[in-house]
Amino acid sequence: MIDLHTHSSASDGTDAPARVVADAAAAGLAVVALTDHDTTAGWTEAAEAAQRHGVALVRGTEISTRADGVSVHLLSYLQDPTHPDLVAEMDVTRSSRLTRARRMVDLLAEDFPVTWEDVLAHTGPDATIGRPHIADALVTAGVVASRDEAFATVLQAGTRYYVPHHAPDAVATVRAVRAAGGVPVFAHPGAVARGRVVPERTIEEMAAAGLAGLEVDHRDHDAATRDRLRDLARALGLLVTGSSDYHGAGKPNRLGENTTSPESLAVIEEQGLLDVIRP
Ligand code: AMP
Ligand code: ZN
Ligand code: FE
Ligand code: FE
Repeated sequence: MIDLHTHSSASDGTDAPARVVADAAAAGLAVVALTDHDTTAGWTEAAEAAQRHGVALVRGTEISTRADGVSVHLLSYLQDPTHPDLVAEMDVTRSSRLTRARRMVDLLAEDFPVTWEDVLAHTGPDATIGRPHIADALVTAGVVASRDEAFATVLQAGTRYYVPHHAPDAVATVRAVRAAGGVPVFAHPGAVARGRVVPERTIEEMAAAGLAGLEVDHRDHDAATRDRLRDLARALGLLVTGSSDYHGAGKPNRLGENTTSPESLAVIEEQGLLDVIRP
């Protein structure tokens, strides 16, 4: 089994990178990708753990981008982690995420007993900060019962506590990922439960810019959405992938609940600058 999308405490997953990899091996995965939001900080620890636990590792990142005013998550696989443009882009996003989280906590603190220190208590050192960390602080403060409840209420876009963060243009980021030797795959492109999704036109523009694939098999896609995206991938000559988007205890997603074919992985490895780390 091949699962190409997971998160660790280097961003908003609840488990350390080594633990994610160990759990992937225990779940019977042959290959796992670590794809933390806007960072490659977990790669070294994950690579060491992959060797130790006998699972292959695809080093990746889930880059926060935007198109048509809609949040677009772009998975990048096997890219040069030192490529200056991509590194600079992600640095800007991470620092904007920090400013944005502080603003959201300031707004929340007007109405709820939550502090910035509470949020930091749930955030790994140097982690890419996101709304899930604020959700954890709200759970500890007794404001909500779970991350899910926090997202369904006060953290939702459109509430008076929501603040957006900087995100680079999706089409430009597809080009930047390719320039860095990475393989760009559009994460959960039809996840309507998270808010607005981009029109097919945008996916066509991303494909023209070098997009490699669509993450079709994902829990946020119903059967009709998967069929539509599979057809679109075929029409545009894009790969199809599937994955869990595992976040540890932070979400119900289980490792390996959706998977990618060996054929798709072979193309990703062939196109990527880095190798898959094999034990
Ligand atoms: P942000 O990137 O800070 O705007 O937060 C969005 C992130 O929160 C997504 O990438 C998911 O990883 C996570 N997320 C979205 N919905 C939920 C939810 N209901 N429960 C837990 N995490 C969620
Ligand atoms: Zn996440
Ligand atoms: Fe995502
Ligand atoms: Fe994700």
